[in-house]
Amino acid sequence: MTMRLFIGGMRGSQPAIGSGFDEFGGDTTSLLLVGSHGERLVLDAGTGMRAVAGQLAQTEPGKVTVLFSHYHLDHLIGLTMNPLLYKAQWSFNFIGPTFADGGVRDAVTQLLAPPYWPVSWERMNAHIEFVALPRPDGCLTVRQNLRVCGCLVPHPGGCVAYRIEDSISGKSVVFATDLEWEKRTPAEETAFRMLCTTPEPANLLVIDAHFGRVQREAFAGWGHTSWEDGLEIAASTGIPRVLLGHHAPAADDATLRALEQQVKDVSPGAALARAGQWIVI
Ligand SMILES: [Zn+2]
Ligand SMILES: [Zn+2]
Repeated sequence: MTMRLFIGGMRGSQPAIGSGFDEFGGDTTSLLLVGSHGERLVLDAGTGMRAVAGQLAQTEPGKVTVLFSHYHLDHLIGLTMNPLLYKAQWSFNFIGPTFADGGVRDAVTQLLAPPYWPVSWERMNAHIEFVALPRPDGCLTVRQNLRVCGCLVPHPGGCVAYRIEDSISGKSVVFATDLEWEKRTPAEETAFRMLCTTPEPANLLVIDAHFGRVQREAFAGWGHTSWEDGLEIAASTGIPRVLLGHHAPAADDATLRALEQQVKDVSPGAALARAGQWIVI
């Protein structure tokens, strides 16, 4: 028994469309984590949600937890692309942090209602519930065997990074999309390093690599991290595998393939996320 991760999409900020984006995919962030006992945890609901829903549809209908890092549109818009919300056999538990601009219930119910969407969430057939995380740095248990702990990371409007542990296999993954490592305070750095290392280094780090260090100054304040920082965090926290994501919308397959070669020269255990791939953790 083991934990598995499906990449529905890891494009950053906006979808990328066209034949130059086939290999890494153009859909925005949405991942499906399947625990040892088949627990289904969706991480963010970008346009990759369509592929995630396709994977869910191949499994027994039932309970799905959707955990949000934050509510920027590239992590939310895929809710409109989930046909399972219209089926009574499915149940969705939306969990997320509350920021100054609102929480999980505000974000989901505003998007899934007119004028943004013709069918209000209240008229969808699936059973829908909302759970506001009492604090971003707390922990909760999902479906008995998945332990989820969070930590606030620097990003405009706020964002939470999560560590998910599978109590059956003992494996863990840190999901840290949308963070600007350069803007961290000492307290934020300590908290994030703790998340990566406690009780032991995670098996996999999924992290924002929207930019490279050479682009840092031009994009200061945009809320994203360089791939070099992602590799450095993994190396210094003892995490052996890294999956880099939130790919820049303009970076086509040729660009990302060249980048991946650079990445592997520095860290052979690192790779760039490809939409449609399954990873055994
Ligand atoms: Zn984003
Ligand atoms: Zn964001």
